[in-house]
Amino acid sequence: MRQYPLEKYRDIGIIAHIDAGKTTVSERILFYTGVSHRIGEVHEGRAIMDWMEQEKERGITITAAATTCFWTLTSLLSAAANDEEKQKIRQASEHRINIIDTPGHIDFTVEVQRSLRVLDAAVVIFDGVAGVEPQSETVWHQADKFKVPRICFINKLDRLGASFENSLRSICERLNPNAVALQLPIGSEANFEGIVDLLKMKAYYFEGERGEKIIEKEIPKELKVKSEKLKIFLVEKIAETDEKLTHKYLEGQEITEGELRQSLRKATINSELVPVFCGSALKNKGAQLLLDAVLDYLPSPLDLTEIKQIKGSDPKTDKEIIRRPDDKEPLAALAFKIATDPYVGSLTYFRVYSGTLRRSTYVLNSTTANQERIGRIVRMHANHREEVDEMFTGDLGAIVGLKNTSTGDTLCDINSPIILEKITFPEPVISVRIEPKTKADQEKLSIAMHRLAEEDPTFRISGDPDTGETIISGMGELHLEILVDRMKREFGVEVSVGRPQVAYKETITIKAEAEGKYIRQSGGRGQYGHVWLKVNPLERGKGIVFTNKIKGGIIPQEFIPAVEKGVKEAVSKGVVAGYPLIDFEAILYDGSFHEVDSSEIAFKIAGAIALQEAVKAAKPVILEPIMKIQTITPLEFLGDTTGDLNAKRGKIENISDRLNIKIIDAKVPLSEMFGYATKLRSMTQGRGTFTMEFDHYEETPKSIEQMIIEGKR
Ligand code: GDP
Repeated sequence: MRQYPLEKYRDIGIIAHIDAGKTTVSERILFYTGVSHRIGEVHEGRAIMDWMEQEKERGITITAAATTCFWTLTSLLSAAANDEEKQKIRQASEHRINIIDTPGHIDFTVEVQRSLRVLDAAVVIFDGVAGVEPQSETVWHQADKFKVPRICFINKLDRLGASFENSLRSICERLNPNAVALQLPIGSEANFEGIVDLLKMKAYYFEGERGEKIIEKEIPKELKVKSEKLKIFLVEKIAETDEKLTHKYLEGQEITEGELRQSLRKATINSELVPVFCGSALKNKGAQLLLDAVLDYLPSPLDLTEIKQIKGSDPKTDKEIIRRPDDKEPLAALAFKIATDPYVGSLTYFRVYSGTLRRSTYVLNSTTANQERIGRIVRMHANHREEVDEMFTGDLGAIVGLKNTSTGDTLCDINSPIILEKITFPEPVISVRIEPKTKADQEKLSIAMHRLAEEDPTFRISGDPDTGETIISGMGELHLEILVDRMKREFGVEVSVGRPQVAYKETITIKAEAEGKYIRQSGGRGQYGHVWLKVNPLERGKGIVFTNKIKGGIIPQEFIPAVEKGVKEAVSKGVVAGYPLIDFEAILYDGSFHEVDSSEIAFKIAGAIALQEAVKAAKPVILEPIMKIQTITPLEFLGDTTGDLNAKRGKIENISDRLNIKIIDAKVPLSEMFGYATKLRSMTQGRGTFTMEFDHYEETPKSIEQMIIEGKR
């Protein structure tokens, strides 16, 4: 039986730049919602959400942990006279909030991306001193791409140098001009005391050991004028989004708090406005009001249908299918993460988009066309799991022990197949050679690597056939470092690691076609495979597409998959310098076969030969990863720093000021960035800092290409 109606669900993520306080805010949320009865402090290394060993040590959240909690609006509960009444109010009004914790470090983009794909809305946390930071911009733009409605929380207002106004301004200038303050801090830095609610026009203070007692008071005198001004601005902003309210506003009629709230909710869900809240998680101020805002302004799975429909396609006909978020619809669930758990083995995290997922039933993995039996289903809390018999539309949970389902697969009703929109992952940009330390490690290494690759689609394994070495690739140095660390801890494998290398790729620049023949017919049963392939360049990020245009059985259907296999194997080694080929379409359009001698293996080889020949004719080039860099330096080192970036083939896109420092935004090839941290430090007397993340792949200049081919890079 469904416990909470769907309109009382919120499936949200908390996203932030590293160190903005996401973990601390999550801890407060768990505490106030009654899930945990103590607050685990991050600096003590025992926060509940950070359950992986490395996370404890490094103090960052790497793996998205899903958790469920419950909340009732503070204003409703505070009206209750006694506990009994409170209980009644809870029964009638409590909401279920499913939270996915997303990592702030950009080396874990994949985690951010997959969470954004499955969540309906997000709370974005900012450090009140730093305001918008470069990686918050990246995540923000990703959230735009996934049309995720947002509210903002400006945290750490107790810190020296914190400013609500500056942070809000940086959000408006750099992220969204329609960010609007719903609150105002009372006092600042060490004197940060409480929060003004601009809709209610009341002041709130947080008392008790953990700020759990919320005290409502009148707005302090010195903030009255400012609050009124901000309120007028807020009302204007809200009224602009709603015709009826605009009319009332222009006529000078009173607009009620309820009307404002309702319109603001709509505007937030449609991403027309972004409400901004404030507080200090560490000093226990503001988290409860933020939870209220989650209920007030963020969508339930029902609200989303207009903007963000549940779309999929029929696996057979490829026709679009739209589902309603309803338990009675056929099941459609998306597996968004696979994790290995030391106690139960593999956990497949999923979100139910429509229908109901029941224990001990069979479902279809429509992506692979296999059936899967659903054994145990668990609802994940931050520090324990609860076994359940069924999961409903809007629920997030995990299935224990699924064998053949990977990240991004759709699980659905056997009788109503649907493939939900896939999660796309970026190509890894950096690789290192690894070598097991002992013979015993060698055996365990392969198991460990494959397990980790199943969990993380941006972690790739390849071998260098020339040297027999193993190469692992990922999204950044830290990403690979952590994976190597996990091999050691979770699988007990010791490896030595080489120097990081740029993961170059190859692609084609023009259309071409070529023939591939593999014919051996001298005595006995021969081999006969013969194909013609066309290749077309595709946009960056489109991957490799294989299209079969064989008509009239020129090549029998049974051999087509073999040709595709040959093509897919051949792309692992390009023809310019042996880097993997990406972003093109291979079309199989002609060929021939032999009644007796044709075999799968012969067609596979023919496919590989044709591909290589076609690529050679299609003006292949080497692609290199270009990184987005933000370097922060004191003014006196600006010249040296920009000069150095130029020398690195960097393109400087913007230089801006913050107090006495300069912020340089640039795009620089990754191959030029090794050792940059040390160089920057020595150039700026240790005062410069930088952040870097992958941006896109670009064709290398010819001179560099030559050096890569000659092995000089
Ligand atoms: P995350 O990396 O975003 O998860 O950030 P954490 O929650 O780990 O916080 C980073 C650091 O900032 C920790 O040392 C926290 O104790 C501290 N911190 C978090 N919230 C606040 C706050 O409101 N005020 C102050 N002064 N420090 C905070």
